[in-house]
Amino acid sequence: MKKASVIGAGIGGLAIAVRLAVNGYKVNVFESNSYPGGKAAEFKTKGFRFDKGPSLLTMPEKIDELFLLAGRTPRDYFKYSKINESCRYFYEDGTVIKAYSDVMKFSEELFNQTKTPKHQTINYLKENEFIFKATSYLFLEKSLHKLKTYLSFKVLFSALKIPFLNLFSTMNEINSKRFKNEKVVQIFNRYATYNGSDPYLAPGVLNSISNLEFKRGAFSADNGMSTIPKSIYKLALELGVGFYFNSSVEEIRIDENEVEGVVVGKDLYSSDLVVCNTDIYYIYNKLLPKKYSLKQQKNSERSSSAIIFYWGIDKVFDKLQLHNILFTQSYKNEFKHIRGGISIYEDPTIYINITSKKKTSDAPKNSENWFVMINVPYNKDQDWDKLVMKSKKNIIKKINRVLNISIEDNIVCENVIDPRNIESETHSFKGALYGTSSNTKGAAFFRHPNFSKEIKGLYFCGGSVHPGGGIPLVLSSAKIVDELIKRDYEKK
Ligand code: FAD
Repeated sequence: MKKASVIGAGIGGLAIAVRLAVNGYKVNVFESNSYPGGKAAEFKTKGFRFDKGPSLLTMPEKIDELFLLAGRTPRDYFKYSKINESCRYFYEDGTVIKAYSDVMKFSEELFNQTKTPKHQTINYLKENEFIFKATSYLFLEKSLHKLKTYLSFKVLFSALKIPFLNLFSTMNEINSKRFKNEKVVQIFNRYATYNGSDPYLAPGVLNSISNLEFKRGAFSADNGMSTIPKSIYKLALELGVGFYFNSSVEEIRIDENEVEGVVVGKDLYSSDLVVCNTDIYYIYNKLLPKKYSLKQQKNSERSSSAIIFYWGIDKVFDKLQLHNILFTQSYKNEFKHIRGGISIYEDPTIYINITSKKKTSDAPKNSENWFVMINVPYNKDQDWDKLVMKSKKNIIKKINRVLNISIEDNIVCENVIDPRNIESETHSFKGALYGTSSNTKGAAFFRHPNFSKEIKGLYFCGGSVHPGGGIPLVLSSAKIVDELIKRDYEKK
């Protein structure tokens, strides 16, 4: 029986462990933390439950696929529901826009709130659906670094559509052309943040991200986002995958450009394959011999990071729903600060996720669990203690102003994380949420491939490699690795 070692039990690591176990490998997963899930873990405090990281679920079928692959019924493991309102947007002038997942309803809402003609919204979302369909096979499902990918008929067909894919304008340029109303432009520019990018730099093709919510649907995990890794972990255990928690891999042992296994403490765990689910920079800096170094990706810009306040709130606010955004008055200035990397804009866009709106047991009676997040630059050794304190004041001021409340009177407990914790808890280089940013036109091609060109038996999945960060993409990376391994080993 061939043996595989997986470094990291993030969603990507768990997914590849399941896939390899299904293919007949003896799989061992090594995880530094005492729990699976990485960025998608949870914690509980004073009667409140919080998802630490991801809050919005799209493309849940990619999770189902793992259970189906193992001959299981997905709903026996993981339950999710479609949400009708994917986000509620609040503006300083009192406007509230409800982003209904239904295109007709949403176009009506934009007409009612901003006088945007309905056909503009409908055509724009159709355009994004076309772009998504034209690009997703190549950019999300296949390795961009194998010649064979480009020889497929499907990919050649996508290439014919290049002139219509908005590759050569930024997201903001396209959105400003399609819509007159600044509030609407701001809503669609926001999709850049779904992979930690900047709408004033990221290519217009990324506007297609909105297609996920408006055409395929936004979802919520019935029992919290952490049930995504928990359910895949349960499946992996059933398939015989071995887990070593509190086990930080210190070295990937290589012999003559071929993997031998992984080293934890004094022990070498030998295996035929090693799949890394850790950040690519960390792998090259810490786990591989010095002679192997990151080349192309060395200077790639990191995605943005975040400061998150997890607040237990002793009141229920009917104005808010599951996902809420309080928009900055100047997105341009906010992104300038995120790019600049030193200070944080004083009027940030605030995201408030309240899972107790759906699952009341996530908070005590008549209370709510607020996950309050702002996007900030990745860690460049800024004075985070000072920035966190200042941001908290600005966040509270803005929440009170926009919602007309005094939220500080209702905060009964607080936990905070900033880019330093994100880095220390998951080894995500500089605390970036989504690996490298997509702020350049060719970003997709410059992400690290899912395999090593120099070391036989070494593969990579997770948010810092192709196709990128975010749960659906991380699951795609595991699928691509699975295909690469099959191709590399079955041809023998
Ligand atoms: P990670 O979660 O990065 O896990 C890597 C694992 O490797 C960790 O458990 C770490 O402990 C382990 N590890 C590292 N080094 C070692 C070592 N040497 N030995 C052993 N183990 C090691 N995505 C969405 O789809 N929707 C969202 O709404 C969303 N919001 C987000 C909000 C925040 C605040 C954050 C942080 C992320 C968000 N994301 C979101 C992104 C999403 O969470 C990530 O893309 C995804 O969870 C990353 O999974 P991964 O497989 O790359 O592994």
